[in-house]
Amino acid sequence: MSQSTFSGSCLCGSVRYEISGNPRSFYHCHCRRCRKTTGTGHASNIILKPEAAKWLAGEELLESFKVPDAKRFRTVFCSNCGSPLPRIAPDLSLAVIPAGSLDESPAIDPTARIFWESRANWSCDAGEIPVWAEYPEER
Ligand SMILES: [Zn+2]
Ligand SMILES: [Zn+2]
Repeated sequence: MSQSTFSGSCLCGSVRYEISGNPRSFYHCHCRRCRKTTGTGHASNIILKPEAAKWLAGEELLESFKVPDAKRFRTVFCSNCGSPLPRIAPDLSLAVIPAGSLDESPAIDPTARIFWESRANWSCDAGEIPVWAEYPEER
C-alpha cells in the first residue's frame, strides 16, 4: 500500500490532526471496550506506523483515558466535545486512527472484523471481509 496522509478533526472542530504513513490494517473491532468508547456496535480504526504525525490545532484539549485493568487499551478524545481522536505512540511506532474522525475518505478499505465473538447481537453484519473471533492470526 502506498504512503497516505490522514487528516481529521473532532466534532467541535477544535482539534485537527495530520498523520502520514502506510496503513497496515483497518479493523472494525467489536470488543466490549470499543463498544463502550464509541457508543455503537464497533469501533472502526486504521492502524499504521506513522512516518509523521502532527496536531494542527487543539493539542491542549486532548484528554486520554487508560482502562486500568488493560495492558494497553487507551482512548484519546477532545475534552470539549468528547469525540475520539487518534492515539499516537510518542516514538511513532504506532498510530490508531478512529476512521470516523477523518475529514476525507481514507485510501484503504476495511480489512477485517475482529473480536467478532464479543459482538452485540444488534451490531451490523459481516460483509465481504474476514472475521476473527478475537485478534487476527498472523498471516
Ligand atoms: Zn472537539
Ligand atoms: Zn476493540
